Amino acid sequence: MPTLATIPDGLSAAFCGTGSPLPDRQRAGPCLAVIAGRHLFVFDAGEGSAETLSLMGFSPARVEAVFLTHFHSDHIDGLGNLALQHWAQGAATAPLPLYGGGGVERVASGFNEAYALDSSYRIAHHGPSVVPPSGFGLTPHAFTIADNQESAIVFEDGGVRITAFHVDHGPVHPAFGYRIDYSGRSIVISGDTAPSEALQRQAANADLLVHEGLSPELVGIMEQTAREQHRGNLAKIFHDIVNYHTSPERAAAIAQAAHVHALTFTHIIPQMPIGALEGPFLGNAAQHFRGPIYIAHDGDIIMLPAAGGMTRRSLF
Ligand SMILES: [Zn+2]
Ligand SMILES: [Zn+2]
Repeated sequence: MPTLATIPDGLSAAFCGTGSPLPDRQRAGPCLAVIAGRHLFVFDAGEGSAETLSLMGFSPARVEAVFLTHFHSDHIDGLGNLALQHWAQGAATAPLPLYGGGGVERVASGFNEAYALDSSYRIAHHGPSVVPPSGFGLTPHAFTIADNQESAIVFEDGGVRITAFHVDHGPVHPAFGYRIDYSGRSIVISGDTAPSEALQRQAANADLLVHEGLSPELVGIMEQTAREQHRGNLAKIFHDIVNYHTSPERAAAIAQAAHVHALTFTHIIPQMPIGALEGPFLGNAAQHFRGPIYIAHDGDIIMLPAAGGMTRRSLF
């Protein structure tokens, strides 16, 4: 089973959830694990992501901190299990740190409360040496970006620097993307956003841009179909989501303008039950970006060794 020890020193992106709120057996909810040297961080924890992380060979016990892009349910609904696995698999003596914008305190305390009874059963059953009471749950770390700034360094330790920046996901506020720098390599995560100039600036010369992607053409077909079936609420939702996400073609143009080296799509909307839909999903993206473009699948890892180069494979 692959472990942190088998990954070359450098920066890696491990896709522990490439889905969206739309149900998809092939894709867990949004989750990206970033490995920087021997450090393991998780960005967003959608439904099923802790399981996917484990199946990729990364124990949730090794997760040092979770960073949230925003508080839409699909980005947080796997947090309860991730915190539980972090605690129980590693006999954690401190809660899992949870970074995010203002509001992260409510998210953490809500999960802690929901799991409080469960934790009491486990401590009573397994004993405090296996599940130390002090290690249960999540500890919130709220950060802000100064009014006159578009970004802020929110974590710096052991050569790892994590920068948060504002993106455009209104009416969702706050909503952030992240840039991770380590050992001369860099990964930028869009979070959920409409085409964002701040993201384009923050992604300058990054090795890898992990961008959300929504195909307006495919979602448009789904909206039309829902309308024909007289499912008005569903049609309205399909209509509404287009304007706060980014099409693959626009993301490709942003990647080109930012001079990033590779572009990977995640948070894939709509679902693609067959590979033949990947072409229509990407549309003309390849005409807008000269570097490699990938559509991420759960289990994928993209490694950026400190020594240079880039390799990509599946851990499943
Ligand atoms: Zn989302
Ligand atoms: Zn969202």
